[in-house]
Amino acid sequence: MIQENVELSDKNTLRLPATAQWFAQPSSEQQLQEILNDPRFTPLPRTVIGDGSNLLIHENIDGLVIKPAMRGISVIEESSEHVLIEVMAGENWDQLVDYTLAQGWQGLENLSLIPGSVGAAPFQNIGAYGVELVDVFESLDAMSVADAQVRNFSKQQCGFSYRDSFFKSVQPGQWVITRVRLRLNKIEKLTLSYADLAERFSALAAENQSAHGVRELICALRRSKLPDPAELANAGSFFKNPVVSSEKFESLQRSFPSIVGYPQPHGAYKLAAGWLIEQAQWKGKREGSVGMHAQQALVLVNYGGATGADVMSFAKRVQDSIAEIFSVTLEREPVLLPRALGD
Ligand SMILES: Cc1cc2nc3c(=O)[nH]c(=O)nc-3n(C[C@H](O)[C@H](O)[C@H](O)COP(=O)(O)OP(=O)(O)OC[C@H]3O[C@@H](n4cnc5c(N)ncnc54)[C@H](O)[C@@H]3O)c2cc1C
Repeated sequence: MIQENVELSDKNTLRLPATAQWFAQPSSEQQLQEILNDPRFTPLPRTVIGDGSNLLIHENIDGLVIKPAMRGISVIEESSEHVLIEVMAGENWDQLVDYTLAQGWQGLENLSLIPGSVGAAPFQNIGAYGVELVDVFESLDAMSVADAQVRNFSKQQCGFSYRDSFFKSVQPGQWVITRVRLRLNKIEKLTLSYADLAERFSALAAENQSAHGVRELICALRRSKLPDPAELANAGSFFKNPVVSSEKFESLQRSFPSIVGYPQPHGAYKLAAGWLIEQAQWKGKREGSVGMHAQQALVLVNYGGATGADVMSFAKRVQDSIAEIFSVTLEREPVLLPRALGD
């Protein structure tokens, strides 16, 4: 069940080469518990991965790498308006979206085609096209890496914010998310706040103006805009959209009148990181095996043969240049593994 010296390049979508000293794919919570309690591994670092679509693996990973493989979707509660479902961490996210829509349950359509596993979705509060996981989230179960005890986390305890959660920034690496509960609608309630989506939706024939229609539009939009990691290795958006104060935004606007910013609660502004990268001439720029994609300024790609160190040094040059031109800090979105001690 537990393998030694496992190559990880086919287990991360940036296709970065590295090995896991030990590797396990528990297919039940009981197996996961046994692995976490196994005295051979308790003194070693334990690292959780999902489908590897948001990882920057920069070195071999010592200790045990655990990839949850528990499957299953069940209904916990149902009324005429809602359904509460429980999904195991090893399910594929997009297959879940497809399945729920086929049952007539809505709420996940805007999150169509996001790669990865269900267990990873709360980790960074996945989001796209005006919807975030938090909007449909009810609660989750997670197992403590330290003592293999299961704890239930409410929405509030998960501390969700933009591409962030308690699991990502408060106690990273300390929990394995095992079950995720989502509350979905049985009555149509679409989110069309994203202008491009709303425009395309209104152009659909009346019978296609449904949650299925939204899924199809988003799948088509994403396929046309984002490189498929199966063809060109990438981890989606490599940088987060930086959030700045209104004073900072106004001062940037004076120097760069066409800067793109979206008002946020409490007077802050979210800047379009892709715009900053494009202005700084990084869009389409390639150095060796690494580059920023020619159509998607925010997507860093491995053209083949890049190492984690290559990606890190290229990303740092992009970050330094954005800091120099705009005095704005670009934060990396993918998670760095192995995790630095204390990180
Ligand atoms: C082409 C492309 C497009 C993308 N588009 C989007 C997008 O629109 N919106 C968006 O939000 N993201 C997007 N992403 C990023 C990625 O799809 C999500 O972050 C996804 O949730 C990662 O899932 P994963 O299973 O691959 O996790 P991994 O990349 O394997 O892991 C990511 C992090 O989650 C942790 N983790 C994984 N599983 C668990 C678990 N069960 N318990 C605890 N921690 C866990 C890992 O430790 C790691 O820190 C995109 C990626 C790609 C490649």
